[in-house]
Amino acid sequence: MDINELEKKLTIQKKNVWSKRDFETIESYTSMYKEFINYSKTERRAIKFSVKLLEENGFKPLSYYEEKGNIELGDKIYFVNREKSLFAIKYNQPLTKGINLVGAHIDSPRFDLKPEPLIEDESIAMAKTHYYGGVKKYHWFNIPLELHGVIVKSDGSKIEVSIGDDESDPVFVISDLLPHLDKELPNKKISEAFDPEKMNLILGTISITYDESKKVSNPVKLNVLKILFEKYGIIEEDLVSAELEAVPALKARDVGIDRSLLASYGHDDRVCAYTALTAFIDSQSSLKSPALLLVDKEEIGSDGNTGAKNHFWISVVKKIMHLANEHKVCNVIDDALFNSTLLSADVSAAVDPNYKEAHDLSNAPRLGYGITLMKYTGSGGKSRTNDAHAELLARIRNLFNQEDISWQIGELGKVDRGGGGTIALFFAEKGLDVLDAGVPLLGMHSPYEIASKADIYETYLAYRTFFEKFGK
Ligand code: MN
Ligand code: MN
Repeated sequence: MDINELEKKLTIQKKNVWSKRDFETIESYTSMYKEFINYSKTERRAIKFSVKLLEENGFKPLSYYEEKGNIELGDKIYFVNREKSLFAIKYNQPLTKGINLVGAHIDSPRFDLKPEPLIEDESIAMAKTHYYGGVKKYHWFNIPLELHGVIVKSDGSKIEVSIGDDESDPVFVISDLLPHLDKELPNKKISEAFDPEKMNLILGTISITYDESKKVSNPVKLNVLKILFEKYGIIEEDLVSAELEAVPALKARDVGIDRSLLASYGHDDRVCAYTALTAFIDSQSSLKSPALLLVDKEEIGSDGNTGAKNHFWISVVKKIMHLANEHKVCNVIDDALFNSTLLSADVSAAVDPNYKEAHDLSNAPRLGYGITLMKYTGSGGKSRTNDAHAELLARIRNLFNQEDISWQIGELGKVDRGGGGTIALFFAEKGLDVLDAGVPLLGMHSPYEIASKADIYETYLAYRTFFEKFGK
């Protein structure tokens, strides 16, 4: 055999997505993604968008089937957990055979307002923040921020806040010290250089009164409260029961002369959420019932009852099996879990040519080469990770090769360099087979993350192939 042929036969061949897919197809898919990512600035909004799409495609809430009293093959069911996480399933096959799940998280790093956020200092009213998830704090200074979330009044009524959706809305800024007066900065440790207690959003500078005879202690803050009262009917105490998230006021934009990349806030992990959602909806026939899981709180460890550790979806599966008369067999739920497979749909760190030293280049994903399969994440000696079984990787790569899906292997940087986790291990502990698989990114956890449009589209195709053709 010719040595060039031998090389092709024996070595790993990675196929660049652009070399085999049509630019227009990728462009039309990613333009729909732009709509999703521009709207889904919070986990609640990502759920709202997803539910709308599911309902437009014939899905009904679990409560509908509970009222009806039964579930039949072909039914499409969804369940929303506290507005922040979601499980949806196409009941194509009995669940004892197992489920093909793709699970992604819909929370992203950001700055939350503290429960009692309002302060005034030097005639500037500000809102104190507490960062959420892993951020490089200096990324967040002097960039435009929007404010989204809910305020729940003591009578239970809920006010939705979205300041920044409209072009005419104001934005908010966390101000940093000018370089002229920060000469000490180069000598400071980065962990000390940016004090999170100084990361306050500027809210206003106008006093409620300039009449010296009518003095109040914080007149600028009071003016802000007056505006809030007029606009939303809220008082300061209402902010205690609020979830207000400051996120970058940046729309998704094409990047590069060739427009091959897409930058946005919140690709991690809404890019995997959207590709999973649309692949799930578009999937046709399947060997097992396909299901989608969107969860909250991954960026802070998956704790809390809307995070992956909660497993609210298992009780939904139990109810479905009951309504579909699958409960006659003993241990049905255990069978369902044992026979199920989850693609833990989360982003990976693509090689940045400027920071190659962070990666083992022979085990690192590249932009444009398709979905990243991560056998494990975690840190140190494979600590805190689901280390996927060789058998599962063999089945997945076989399927992707057969279907001409571009895939690549990824590790999260060099050994002992750092690390991170995903939701994978919380499903493995329930008995499912689990593999991390998602879109590679540059600048992950920054206010403006970069993905290749080709990888976004290829990941959609990969999830769809998994839903339609994966079977044990
Ligand atoms: Mn993630
Ligand atoms: Mn993350």
